[in-house]
Amino acid sequence: MKTNSIIEQKTSEWIDIRRDIHAHPELRFEEIRTARIVADKLRAFGIEVTEGVGKTGVVGVLRGDKTPVTENVRAIGLRADMDALPIQEKNLFAHASTLKGKMHACGHDGHVAMLLGAAEVLASQKHLLAGNVVFIFQPAEEGGAGAQRMIEDGLFTRFPVDAVFAMHNWPGLPVGTFAVRKGPMMASSNEFELTVRGKGAHAAMPNLGIDPVPIACQIVLAFQQLISRVRAPLDPAVISVTQISAGEAINVIPESATLAGTVRTFKDETLNSLEAQMGKIAHHICASFGAQSDFVFKRNYPSLINDAESTEFICQVLEELEGVEAVYDDLDPTMGAEDFAFMLKVKPGSYVWLGNGDGDHRSAGHGLGPCTLHNPSYDFNDGVLSLGVSAWVALSQRFLKS
Ligand SMILES: [Zn+2]
Ligand SMILES: [Zn+2]
Repeated sequence: MKTNSIIEQKTSEWIDIRRDIHAHPELRFEEIRTARIVADKLRAFGIEVTEGVGKTGVVGVLRGDKTPVTENVRAIGLRADMDALPIQEKNLFAHASTLKGKMHACGHDGHVAMLLGAAEVLASQKHLLAGNVVFIFQPAEEGGAGAQRMIEDGLFTRFPVDAVFAMHNWPGLPVGTFAVRKGPMMASSNEFELTVRGKGAHAAMPNLGIDPVPIACQIVLAFQQLISRVRAPLDPAVISVTQISAGEAINVIPESATLAGTVRTFKDETLNSLEAQMGKIAHHICASFGAQSDFVFKRNYPSLINDAESTEFICQVLEELEGVEAVYDDLDPTMGAEDFAFMLKVKPGSYVWLGNGDGDHRSAGHGLGPCTLHNPSYDFNDGVLSLGVSAWVALSQRFLKS
């Protein structure tokens, strides 16, 4: 049967899977039910399955019938993330979350369904493939670095690939369009915590203590000066101090003040320099007033950098795909982060956004908020599910053409 007819026939089944996963969201590294659905489906399609890769990750390997007998079998990796978020869903439609405080608010339910759909189509047409398709269902994208965990668990040594691709739905991007760019597309995500240790005193006798509050305030401003005066203006970077805490009583100068926040950059050099400068500023401003600083900096996700060749390849495939209205390759990158970046650090590949539309698709009973990522009124657009499947299928078939 032709690819398009299979997709047409099967789309409603895939939508049911997507809605079932949406109704049963699981947080990072708890994707037991989701992983079981994935593994069962892949097996039913005749795909080799390995479970428990990176704790709750699942990997499926489909071997094409036209694969030449050689040591270096060509292979493509396709990745979907499976985890939900700790958000109370505001939607009341039939497939809304059945679990309090957990929700698929980033569309990973849709990503799982699209990759399962692609697995089903590709398995039914494996006579066309001269190589392997490796289906990577990863846990814990939302702050758990599940991609890194899978890599540490031997993902690419146990299941080698020549390139790896990922697709994420993107609200606001019109239905029927994709967006991707060469080079940096999403920022590195890092966090810091700084404690300013002063000396407590009576609020009316500040000279008897070392007040950590004005010291902390000076540090907040000096951090912003790093962005405006030290960083090169054309090299994007953000420092946001998002938490300040000090003091318990109005008439007491506290012992200490704590600042915490996030740092985003595209370049490693910029990150290295900001981390070092922030530590220096904290130390010297504290020292000049007789206080001490404890500065802790933690790197979470690296910046996501799309390899040029893979990005050109996926653009070509998408541009020729039926139903695609536009492939934007010049959208601005975002300072948001994505742990697929870990995979792109070790393998060439590309990460692409699939237009999720502006929210009109939502079933009756949806929350009144916008249909943006991580919003309690969000829902994945089932109307783009089949396009996502065709994109995965076309990409794999082109990549593994004999
Ligand atoms: Zn997310
Ligand atoms: Zn996401």
